[in-house]
Amino acid sequence: MSPLPRIAVPLIYLALYQLADFASVGHDSSGLFTTPWNAAPALSIAFILRYGWNWLPYVLVSPLLAGLVEPSPQAALWPVLMRAIAESLGSVLCLLLLRGRSPDLLLLRGVLRLLAAAGCAAALIAGTRSLEILLAASPSFWQGLAVGGEFWLAHLVAILSIVPAFLVLNRAMLRHWRLDLTATGEALLQAGALLLIGWEVFGRFVNAEIHFFYLLFLPFAWIAARHGQKGVALALGALYLAPVATDILFGHKDAMIVELQIRLGVLAVTSLLFGALVAERRQAAIRMQERQTELAHFQRLNVGWEMASALAHELNQPLTAAMNLTQAALRLLKAPNPDLERTIEVMGKSVDRIERVGQIIHGLRDFMRKGELTLSKGLPAGIVEDALRLVSAEASAAGVTMAASGLSQLPPIMADRTQVVQVLVNLLRNAIQALDSAKTANPLISVSGKTAGDMIEIAVADNGPGLAPEVMDRLFEPFVTTKASGMGLGLSISKSILEAHEGRLWAENAPDSGAIFRLTLPLAGRSADNA
Ligand code: ADP
Repeated sequence: MSPLPRIAVPLIYLALYQLADFASVGHDSSGLFTTPWNAAPALSIAFILRYGWNWLPYVLVSPLLAGLVEPSPQAALWPVLMRAIAESLGSVLCLLLLRGRSPDLLLLRGVLRLLAAAGCAAALIAGTRSLEILLAASPSFWQGLAVGGEFWLAHLVAILSIVPAFLVLNRAMLRHWRLDLTATGEALLQAGALLLIGWEVFGRFVNAEIHFFYLLFLPFAWIAARHGQKGVALALGALYLAPVATDILFGHKDAMIVELQIRLGVLAVTSLLFGALVAERRQAAIRMQERQTELAHFQRLNVGWEMASALAHELNQPLTAAMNLTQAALRLLKAPNPDLERTIEVMGKSVDRIERVGQIIHGLRDFMRKGELTLSKGLPAGIVEDALRLVSAEASAAGVTMAASGLSQLPPIMADRTQVVQVLVNLLRNAIQALDSAKTANPLISVSGKTAGDMIEIAVADNGPGLAPEVMDRLFEPFVTTKASGMGLGLSISKSILEAHEGRLWAENAPDSGAIFRLTLPLAGRSADNA
């Protein structure tokens, strides 16, 4: 997994551990020896969280090694053993609490889980180390409790500062690193701000009153906003070096250490939570963008599919009619004395239907492709007549009478003739099929028209069964049908065609029987005014 040779990672860990241990300055807190700035146990936790159970032997060995290099003040082996046990137990507890895998610090939940695990691991390490002190120095109960508390705080702060940096650091980050001048410049400025404020807080004023600590929140907020959780984690790791270094250089006053650690802990928790919030927001934005892309893709597919279905639906009728007419012509020709005149008439009708197919394909294709209409001025009476002629064969086959009234007085409209004819054909065919399937006595379709303001209104009414209640509310939605072989597209396409004309289409049941479909279209004068 690691790009480094297998042995290199344990060696790096052991070296870092020894260095951290060596750099931790001992303090004599009322006669009890402590090392408040000790990153070594936190390093063990960081590595075990990254590399899992296999890392346990190293975690056990490194404190022993450190004990050999720098023997304990008591010059005895048992404190070193206690320490190795304490740190191993703490690391294992962390691993167990995080269920064997490192927490996802990009999620708020992951940060909270790390906080809980860090608190428990720190308590375990602090408890065992306090026991070691109690055994060595036998202080009073309250003294022991205070030292235990200090240990806990020290380890908690170290874990929260060190572990996230090791969890976010990965190969991909290094591989994808590019020298971007603006980003590098900004990162340098952030590092500079951190260094300057870190110096003020931990260097210049460390043993005085620490007035400026709150200033550290500024670079952290800046880093979180710009680099998210990765930036926060690395900055926290780097900042932890400041108290270690200044403790070595100037020596911290015991009274100041707890205060500093509390502040550092608050900074770490706040920044990690803020970093997770930023990361979650970014991920939500990315997810949203992905959804939108998916949706756009889906819509494109849907439109394509709808167009194919719509074409199949619209072409079915004229093609079937053309086939029937051609077969009729063939039968006429095969007769002993072929009636050529009749055959020519039938073939003419067939050609008419096939031409209609061409018109539909062109009209639909243009409509779908450009979303535009080919508007021309035309009389509603002529448009309705075209539609009636196209369904006449189907109507007479079903024995349906079709009547038109009040159309000849209507003024011209601006419309895409092919498409409006298509809408009317749809309405008429639906009515014929409804009348046919309901076996209505004296089946009748009446088409009427009137002007209403700057629109004309055409009504297609039948005396059939009327609209079924189950489809009433969703009549104009695609794929709503009560027919066994219906596609439920006719009305939805018709409605969008009319809306593209700035007209409307709606339906109601007639008071006595049957359905009435009404549509409106703008008058030619109104369109000219608008143009
Ligand atoms: P399709 O005809 O493919 O089923 P449509 O969109 O043309 O799809 O019609 C949807 C439904 O509307 C039909 O299945 C039918 O139930 C109902 N409908 C349409 N016109 C009438 C009518 N004149 N009378 C009764 N029901 C109708």
